[in-house]
Amino acid sequence: MKLAKLHDGPEIFHTIQGEGISAGLPATFVRASRCNLHCRWCDTDYTWNFIGTPWPHDHDSRPGYAKFDKAAVTLDLAPETIAALIRERPPRRVVFTGGEPLLQQEAWLEIIRLLRADGSSWIFETETNGTRLPLAEFDAAIDQFNVSPKLSHSGVAESLRLVPDALRHFAATGKAWFKFVASSPADLGEIDAIVATHALPTERILLMPEGRTAAELDRHAAFLAQACIDRGWRFSDRLHVRIWGDQRGV
Ligand code: SF4
Repeated sequence: MKLAKLHDGPEIFHTIQGEGISAGLPATFVRASRCNLHCRWCDTDYTWNFIGTPWPHDHDSRPGYAKFDKAAVTLDLAPETIAALIRERPPRRVVFTGGEPLLQQEAWLEIIRLLRADGSSWIFETETNGTRLPLAEFDAAIDQFNVSPKLSHSGVAESLRLVPDALRHFAATGKAWFKFVASSPADLGEIDAIVATHALPTERILLMPEGRTAAELDRHAAFLAQACIDRGWRFSDRLHVRIWGDQRGV
């Protein structure tokens, strides 16, 4: 399967989960390459913003920023190899991240089968942008879906970033948490509309401040916390940003 490359190997690392409902728990992260969306502020743009693609990115005007050479930032590894790399790390909680992990469900299923064969109490979370329907087998195998629907500030057309059938499906699983990244009151209005239109379960909504530094998180945290209080939603911080900034692999 196609994973993001970090230094000379795949982007597989163990750390603490920094955000969402499992924040603070030790977990091994496995980062898939490829995404079906192209959010203009994406901080894992090396998984999809390849040379030859037409999509803009907020960093385009930054000196030295350039689209990525697909071959240089991707590793193609067998599920057996990936499972072995996960198994040698201490956590038994695994987070599939990306990119968009649901583009490679068959490979993840093979990894899950290989790991669960040892009888350990593995827990598998997957992050997703919520636009792809899970296969029935994948649905059954995953313990927790961390669904992060994208807003208009992503620059992605609504028809691509909000797929009603998929959102309805995740809401019905009872295993999904819906995490929205927000930085302004305008974002809140959009999130309210998405939650209402797609009948997302209000007890499973999280608001998380946008930010790549602690100062940026702090700037948005107070009004988002108040929005959570007003709506009965949860607030999620980004612990990894506070601890390690935007460093990769931690
Ligand atoms: S869905 Fe996620 S990984 Fe894909 S472009 Fe948007 S932020 Fe990046």
